[in-house]
Amino acid sequence: MAQNDHSHLHGSCSCGTFSFKTRKAPAARFVCHCLFCQDFTGEAFSDVSVLMGYQIEMKGTADLIHKKYRLPPNLNRALCAKCGKPAMETMGAGPLKLVFVPSKSFVEQKMLPPVRLHVFYNRRVADVADDLPKYSHYWPSQFAITKTIMGF
Ligand SMILES: [Zn+2]
Ligand SMILES: [Zn+2]
Repeated sequence: MAQNDHSHLHGSCSCGTFSFKTRKAPAARFVCHCLFCQDFTGEAFSDVSVLMGYQIEMKGTADLIHKKYRLPPNLNRALCAKCGKPAMETMGAGPLKLVFVPSKSFVEQKMLPPVRLHVFYNRRVADVADDLPKYSHYWPSQFAITKTIMGF
C-alpha cells in the first residue's frame, strides 16, 4: 500500500480504484478554465500537474471510463468508473506522451510545484485574484501550456 518513499510521489482518485506513483515531482502545473475541463471535473476549473508518460506508474487503468470531447485539445480524459471523479488525462504518444493528473489527487501536496499560470481564462466561471499570468483563447493558451511543460 502507501509506502513512505520520499523520492516518489503517489496518489489516487477519491475512491482509490485508480492510483499512481511518480518517479519524480511534476515539473509543471497549471489551471485550465476551459469548458471541457469544467465538464470533466464538475468544478469551475481544473488544476493539473504534468508528468512525462515514463515518469508515472498507474494502477487501475482498466477501471477507467474514457471521455471523448470534440477536438481540440487532443486529450484523452479518463474518469474512475467507481467514484466518477477525474483520474488522469493523456496527450500524445510514445516518448512524447504527457500525463495530466489532478493536483488534488497527490498525497504529497507540498512536493507539487506551485500553479504557474491560468489558461482559457476567457471561459472562467469566476475571476481569480492572484498575480499569475492568465491566457485566454485557444492558441495563446496552447502556447502557454507548451512553454510551461517544456520549461521555457
Ligand atoms: Zn475512484
Ligand atoms: Zn481545459
